[in-house]
Parts: sequence; C-alpha cells; structure tokens
Amino acid sequence: MVTITNIVYLIAAIFFIIGLKNLGSPKTARQGNLLAMTAMLIAVLVTLLDRQILDFSYIIAGVIIGAAIGIVSAKKVEMTQMPQMVAIFNGFGGIASALVAFSEYLRTGNSLAIDGLITLILSLIIGTLTFTGSLVAFAKLQGIMRGAPIVFPGQKWINAILLTSALVLGVFVIFDASLVSFLLIIVIIAAVLGVLSVIPIGGADMPVVISLLNSYSGLAAAATGFVLSNNILIISGALVGASGIILTQIMCKAMNRSLTNVLFAAVGTDDSGGVSTGGERKKVTEYTAEDAAMVFDASQSLIIIPGYGLAVAQAQHILQELAELLENRGVAVRYAIHPVAGRMPGHMNVLLAEANVPYEKLLEMDEINDDFQNTDVVLVIGANDVINPAARYKKDSALYGMPILNADKAKTVMIVKRSLSPGFAGEDNELFYDSKTMMLFGDAKKMVTDLVKAVKDL
Ligand code: NDP
Repeated sequence: MVTITNIVYLIAAIFFIIGLKNLGSPKTARQGNLLAMTAMLIAVLVTLLDRQILDFSYIIAGVIIGAAIGIVSAKKVEMTQMPQMVAIFNGFGGIASALVAFSEYLRTGNSLAIDGLITLILSLIIGTLTFTGSLVAFAKLQGIMRGAPIVFPGQKWINAILLTSALVLGVFVIFDASLVSFLLIIVIIAAVLGVLSVIPIGGADMPVVISLLNSYSGLAAAATGFVLSNNILIISGALVGASGIILTQIMCKAMNRSLTNVLFAAVGTDDSGGVSTGGERKKVTEYTAEDAAMVFDASQSLIIIPGYGLAVAQAQHILQELAELLENRGVAVRYAIHPVAGRMPGHMNVLLAEANVPYEKLLEMDEINDDFQNTDVVLVIGANDVINPAARYKKDSALYGMPILNADKAKTVMIVKRSLSPGFAGEDNELFYDSKTMMLFGDAKKMVTDLVKAVKDL
C-alpha cells in the first residue's frame, strides 16, 4: 500500500509541476489550474485511503465546513478583494501546518526523532508567524488597519531577539522533547514576530508581502511534511515555497526594491486621509466622451493602460468592444500591463483574458515602454500609481523608484477615473494637470460605454 501511495503521490507531484509550468502563460493557465486541482484531489483521496483513520467523522465535518467557507468566499468575494482573501488563506495554511505538526507531536507522545523535532519547531515558528502576519496584511488591505508603516525605535532588534529566543528554546526542545511549555512559548513568540514583521511594511509594498507570506505558508507545509514523513506535503509545500519566493522577487523587481528594503525600510505613506489632491491649486481640463471620440478619429495608434478601477467597474468587456471598434476604424490598439497594476499579481491579465482580449495585444512594461513616445493616444482606465511620474523623482514618495509606464510620453493622454483622488499609494498624480491630459471623469464602465457610443456616432 505504501508503494502504491508513493507512486500516486509521484504522479500528483508531476501534475503539480506541469500545472505550475502552465501557469506561466495566460494561454495555458486555465489548464494548469485544472491539472493542479486534480493533483490535489488525488493527493487528498489517496492520503485518506492510506492512513489508518479510525474515525472519519471529524474529517467529514471539516470537509463540509471548509468547503462551505470556500464556496461562499469564492462566490461573494469581489475580484478586487482577492489580495485580502489570498492573505487570509495564506494565514490559514500557515496555522493549519503548525497545528498538524503539533498534533503529531502530541500523538506520538513526545517520541519524535530529532529530524521530526527540528521540523516541528520550524513548522511552529513559520506557520504561526505566517498566520499572524497574514492577519495584519488582511487588516491593512481591508482598511481595518491603516496601511501606513508602524515603526518604533529598536524594532529590528526586537524582531531579531524574538527570532533568536524562539530558535534557542527550540534547541532545548530538541534535547528534551518533553518540554511542551517551551513549544507553547515558541508559538507565542512567533505570533508576536508575525505581527511585528508586517506592521512596518507600507501599503504600497503589499504585493511583495502577500507573495512572501504565500511562500512562508509553503515552507511551513513542507516542514510539517517532514514531521509526518508525508512526501506529497513536502513536495507541494516546497513548490509553494519556491514559487512564492520567485513571485516575491518578480514583485520586488517590478517595484525596483530589494526584499531587504521592503522588509526593513518602512517606506510607505501616511494614508490617514490627509492627502491633498492638489485639485484646488492646479488646473484640470475635463473632457467629454464626444471630445475623446474626435481625438480617436484622428489617431493611428492607441495604448490602453488598465488599472484597479477597471476591475472595480468591471469594464473589461465594454473596453474590448471599444478596442475592436477602433481597430475596425484603422487604429492600432495595444494594452500595456504594469506588473503591480490592480490588486494582485496578474490581475489585469486575468481580467482582460476574461474579456477575450487576444494575448498578443497584452504587452508587459519592458516590451512597450519605449513605444509610448511614438503613440498618438494613451487611454488610462482606472490606473493611477502605475503611471505616476512622482515615482521617477519624488524621493519621499512611497512610489519612488518604482518603474512606471511612460504614459506621459505619448502625444495625448486620456485618463478615465471618477475624481482626482490618489491611487493605492496615496500620492497625488501630476499627470492629471498636464496640458496634454484629457480627464474623462466618471465610472470606468459608464465612461467606456459612452466612448463606444460616441465612436459609433462619428
Ligand atoms: P491605483 O490604486 O493606483 O489607482 C486606481 C484608480 O482607479 C484610483 O485612483 C481610482 O480613482 C480609480 N477608480 C476606482 N474605482 C473606479 C471606477 N469604478 N471607475 C473608474 N475609476 C475608478 O491602481 P493601479 O492599478 O494604477 O496601481 C495598483 C496599486 O495597487 C499599486 O500601488 C500597487 O503597488 C498596489 N497593489 C498591487 C497589488 C498587486 O499585486 N497588483 C496588491 C496590493 C496593492 P477615483 O477614485 O478617482 O475613481
């Protein structure tokens, strides 16, 4: 039975790896997801069959409650609330790993071998800090807590002391496995460490934090896999850990920050609501959909920049209709995708794929940034931070150093949003006041619908 189980685990692991590979392109992502889901189902089923489970009642109750929560969240949670959901699910993954590892310790009556004890301690530390860190990330993203960094003197030292103490207590447990109270202290320390590690991270750096916590939850699962001697948990945990860290690196690169800088520099913004839009001082030119349609009529090239507001308004389908309409009139239309646009990695790709935008029209920042200067019109839909020129020069800005899409280099810039409010990072955007900018105020779906009508009426 053990051999059969391991063979099935191996097949599941291969599916996981191919599934992950498929996630690398929007064309194959759906198939990759399906494959990974199937692998997970196989892995769970074979585990349930293999272990000598005497009583399935708790498992069935757990499956029913978990599935109910999963289905309700998947149906209720808006696409724009995904980061919060991912954050909280990472946290649950972390705490589940820590709890399973601890129950294995109790089940074996403190008789885990040394490798089991080492990985138990790692699972408790990483799993618990992932849980509390994710709760803080959730609270920041949900607006329950302020997004601005919370810093105090000696913070880094306190974190270092906490981590060292947890590890030292862990060493004691390795020498004397009966020290259960030490394990509980380790859990408390890790819980505090999780909170203290995430509170100094500013709102704009949340993409990095989410992917890092995701990676931690995988590492905690892998550690628990060692405690249980369960191969598939080790493999899947390692895959999550590794892909999470790769995503973290991609996000850091997109923001032009090192991971150390994100974790320790406390760069962020005071988002307490006091941000001035500058609207009273500077002049903004408001245009109508009909004005915009006339500009489209005289243009040959258009780059669309989608952002968070497009997702909020669910304007992707009507936007695609506009793009097709303009293409039929001879305008070359492309989309420029910033890596942190929206509220989760790949947010804009998913949204536009849903509206059947051809993949070859979606261009990454590096591929398209040099083309803006030769482009007639840039149409910005609900994006703000990813085109904010302050990122290039304003040293005290949360955005400083983040590469942006060169929207300001195009001949005409159209910006669709409801007001002059700043984006996620709370930074006023000077591009709104530029003489070449046409502000099209309104909800993205309503305004794009008006643009479609105006173009049809030309
Ligand atoms: P921003 O958050 O900078 O700006 C979005 C803009 O959309 C707002 O200024 C808002 O202006 C407008 N908006 C909101 N609702 C609507 C609507 N219904 N119709 C029209 N406009 C609307 O978005 P970006 O995509 O430019 O940048 C993403 C930001 O989010 C970055 O700072 C990034 O770091 C951060 N982030 C990204 C994550 C990721 O993984 N991608 C995760 C977490 C954070 P107004 O209110 O005036 O309409």
